[in-house]
Amino acid sequence: MPNASSPDFLDRYRRHILMKNIGGAGQKKLCNANVLLIGLGGIGSSAIQYLAGAGVGNIGIVDQDTVALSNLQRQTIYNYKDIGKKKVEVVSRFVGELNNDVKIEKYDFYIDNPKSAEVISKYDLILDGTDNVKSRKEINKACVNYEKPLIFGGVSGWEGTISFLLKDGAPCYECIFPDIEENTNELNCNSEGVLGVTTAIVGSYMAAETIKYVCNTGNILTNKLLLFDCLNGVFEVLSVEKNVKCLVCNNK
Ligand SMILES: [Zn+2]
Repeated sequence: MPNASSPDFLDRYRRHILMKNIGGAGQKKLCNANVLLIGLGGIGSSAIQYLAGAGVGNIGIVDQDTVALSNLQRQTIYNYKDIGKKKVEVVSRFVGELNNDVKIEKYDFYIDNPKSAEVISKYDLILDGTDNVKSRKEINKACVNYEKPLIFGGVSGWEGTISFLLKDGAPCYECIFPDIEENTNELNCNSEGVLGVTTAIVGSYMAAETIKYVCNTGNILTNKLLLFDCLNGVFEVLSVEKNVKCLVCNNK
């Protein structure tokens, strides 16, 4: 935690401190927050920039991928010289140069690694920026088991979706998408293609949800599913609720 009365602290976070829903007290909470970001693709690499800029103090990052040329269309935190490098390393360096108030813990493995559940158990809030249903289901299950709030974000084509799960009786991922198969192509940008901008919107919005949650302010997307379609200029918020017959979170 940086010295909250130092000139650098007041200067760096001035625009937050001026905001009545954040203020100095909220900024201190952000600097003490403990967040796990899973996936450093389009969504995750967007979210991390605003989490780090906001001074979220402790961020775990999970990804085993290396940067590829095809990533650069949307994952603009990386550049041409980063191709072939580990994403966790490039992101860690980026954050260190942006804001050294932020401590990064690197987890260089995929979410199906047996160590993942233990890692999830160590954080107060989990952000799922992965791009496939299998990973989402595993993250969801671990968050149910360890009673961790989970911000879910997904993209496909021109569309994006976000929900704040597993907080105050909110549904889990499985409650909202009970029939989705692990090998489905739905919301998978590898098979359907994706507009880079949609990943930036989803990742940034997940960072905004994180800030509201940590500062305990505003209306969080619990029991709500935010959907947008950039092509047709549509933003809408649907009501969603816990499925009492959900095979994952029922009785939890
Ligand atoms: Zn459920």
